[in-house]
Amino acid sequence: MRPALKNPPAPILHPGTLQPCGAADLRPIFCDELVKQELNTTESRIPIPEEVRQFYKMYRPSPVVRAYFLEKALGTPAKIYYKFEGTNTSGSHKLNSAIAQIYYAKQQGITDVTTETGAGQWGTALAMACAYFGLSAKVFMVKVSSQQKPHRRAVMETYGASVLASPSDTTKVGREILAAMPDTGGSLGCAISEAIEVATQTPNCRYVLGSVLNHVLLHQSVIGLETQAALAKFDIRPDVIIGCAGGGSNLGGLIAPFMTGRLKGENNIRFVAVEPASCPSFTRGKFAYDFGDTGKTTPLLKMYTLGSGFIPAPNHAGGLRFHGMNSVLSQLYNEGYLEAKAYEQNKVFEAATLFARSEGTLPAPESSHAIKAVIDEALACKETGEARTILFGLTGTGYFDLSAYASYQAGTLTDAIPTDADLAKGIATLPAV
Ligand SMILES: *Cc1c(COP(=O)(O)O)cnc(C)c1O
Repeated sequence: MRPALKNPPAPILHPGTLQPCGAADLRPIFCDELVKQELNTTESRIPIPEEVRQFYKMYRPSPVVRAYFLEKALGTPAKIYYKFEGTNTSGSHKLNSAIAQIYYAKQQGITDVTTETGAGQWGTALAMACAYFGLSAKVFMVKVSSQQKPHRRAVMETYGASVLASPSDTTKVGREILAAMPDTGGSLGCAISEAIEVATQTPNCRYVLGSVLNHVLLHQSVIGLETQAALAKFDIRPDVIIGCAGGGSNLGGLIAPFMTGRLKGENNIRFVAVEPASCPSFTRGKFAYDFGDTGKTTPLLKMYTLGSGFIPAPNHAGGLRFHGMNSVLSQLYNEGYLEAKAYEQNKVFEAATLFARSEGTLPAPESSHAIKAVIDEALACKETGEARTILFGLTGTGYFDLSAYASYQAGTLTDAIPTDADLAKGIATLPAV
């Protein structure tokens, strides 16, 4: 998808010099092969290594399902399809990139990796990948998520990972954040700072990231490629493709082959990103260079961002609580190829409940943002009588989100929407580039 962009993608900048980053700048943080993929803006296909394919066979290809029962419940003429990524134990698409990243780390002789996790899906996926390839994993889990989802820790530890609630007192940046905001529930941005600090100070250790970066989208393009193959078999052509967007990896992966077609003028598909109203990177953010973390240590990415100092309310869709967005998706949004919508979480859980009752699968809160947008799209078709074909990414299951479902049922789920003043505070933390 990246090589098909109309305008060249904005380069990654070094946080010190503000000059474009070379591979040498990124290698102390990330594995060599992933750095190469991150900086590769010209090759449109990179083969999946054989060992990664073997692992994928355990749970891929993932199903593409027609949501007949949801269509019926809505009384819509629209045809709704979804690609379901929740069939592995980690419960989401994140395993697709975790296994690829750990494969390349092992090839390089890396023995230890660090990362952050929000809702816990990425940490679990990484723990599974590390168990498979025999690497050791240290996971900084956003404090509010670790409190909401204690069972996630148990799963990660079962796969051999060590898990710390972030901000923690084990890192310099964690101690600084705790001193400034003792009651903070943490954020992905804080946890990333801690994980990078440990990675750069531990021998033979690298940092791995489960979203946002272009190499993660590359790994997730397996979702889109499988979907494209499955739909082509039955000559199904989507009119609109919808996905939830945290850092953009599932959405980017799902739309990759279809967006490439759109950029080449081969289709006229609409693409829609859906985010929480509590963390509205696309719909209320700014297109600017920003850090990926609260501690301002990462290279700078040009993206839609709320500012690295923005700490979103403890919304239950932990996987969508990141201040920024992948840079290629940001550019596509900026150039009008991608639309975006934001929803409050009570409406999202209402959509999740309708989906569970009609289709049977209990969706993750993150995925349910896409479901809400799909339902609105399908109801619009009912008004106009159009039989549009809607495709969406059902990124995961909600088995670890039962406390969120329970609060929704009890009527205690809150909709925390940041005020313009809250957002201005985050935007004020943007670096002057
Ligand atoms: C992490 C996660 C997301 C959001 O991450 P992206 O990188 O934007 O895809 C969405 N759904 C689930 C189930 C997740 O675990």
